Amino acid sequence: MNRTDILSLSLKELEEKLVALGEKKFRAKQIFQWLHVKRVFDFDKMTDISVQLRHVLSENFCINRLFVHKRLESNIDNTVKYLYRLSDGNYVETVLMEYNYGYSICVSTQVGCKMGCRFCASAIAGYVRNLEPSEILMQIYEAEADRGIRVSGVVLMGIGEPLDNYDNVLKFLGLLSAKEGNNLSLRHVSLSTCGIVPRIYDLAELHLGLTLSVSLHCADNDKRSEIMPVNRTYNIDRLLEACRCYIEKTGRRVTFEYAVIDNVNSSEADADKLAALLRGMNCHVNLIPVNKVKERNYRTARSGVAEFAKRLGRRGINATVRRTLGSDIEAACGQLRRDAAQHGKTEGGAEK
Ligand code: SAH
Repeated sequence: MNRTDILSLSLKELEEKLVALGEKKFRAKQIFQWLHVKRVFDFDKMTDISVQLRHVLSENFCINRLFVHKRLESNIDNTVKYLYRLSDGNYVETVLMEYNYGYSICVSTQVGCKMGCRFCASAIAGYVRNLEPSEILMQIYEAEADRGIRVSGVVLMGIGEPLDNYDNVLKFLGLLSAKEGNNLSLRHVSLSTCGIVPRIYDLAELHLGLTLSVSLHCADNDKRSEIMPVNRTYNIDRLLEACRCYIEKTGRRVTFEYAVIDNVNSSEADADKLAALLRGMNCHVNLIPVNKVKERNYRTARSGVAEFAKRLGRRGINATVRRTLGSDIEAACGQLRRDAAQHGKTEGGAEK
């Protein structure tokens, strides 16, 4: 019999399962707290649960742990990058970053990605499967146990497209913020999407309080379609319309991610188009130097990001430049997993 993945269950679902097994409903809360508050991942160590119930638990449920296959620590800024092996032998990457206000963690939502963005290493390695809610959550719990810390912010910006694994990502957000469990406010969570328009509308209805980050990267439809195939299905106009709806419904501003790439999206004309597109919108632009991917030729000139920020500034659009963390350990994700998957080992090289 297949055992149920207990870490993917909400408290309510766990209650229902226990009642169906003839157990008392209140036991669910005790077990939920062992898992999500005390972080005990062994039924035998749940000491206020009877031996008989512990036996029932291990017969009916499994605890879906992740294994640290590789851990890279930065010597510059305490950034740690994990390559986790999942129970079926697949790999995902997670990056833990230290800021002066606390720790932030970047998690993956799929094994690989279907979206095919030209500049992204995750696309090169191809798509394998969605992650379960527990597999997204345990990237955080395992890193917290490894470092003896608690994170204060979570970004869904690792491998995968979160809105292409919508149901599991929502369940994960429910577990992350569960009052009786981990209890992290979704105000401290950012979700990044390449622009799956219908799911942006769905998300807007939920008023979760999280920050929506949209990977725009280009303000011209033809050029965006070239570097981001998703634009052929949901073009810039439809994407921006969905973002305006999200802002209106949630009262939250949207962040636009923009990787500055030489000869692709950083000219005066590109700045004109971007400024025209975003003028008057309650949004924020985050400029990123494009990370080198060894299969591709994209690059950002040293002055490129600051120069483009100035170009936007002159047009009345404020943009921040994302701080680079863990530059000595290639902390952006995608490449480590791809190397592990292709060669059965990891190697140095370029990042995301
Ligand atoms: N699929 C989601 C989240 C994962 S990617 C999304 O597209 O938003 C997280 C961010 O990293 C996105 O903004 C993505 O466009 C960006 N990214 C991917 N490859 C990059 C690279 N080589 N250099 C800079 N940013 C990159």
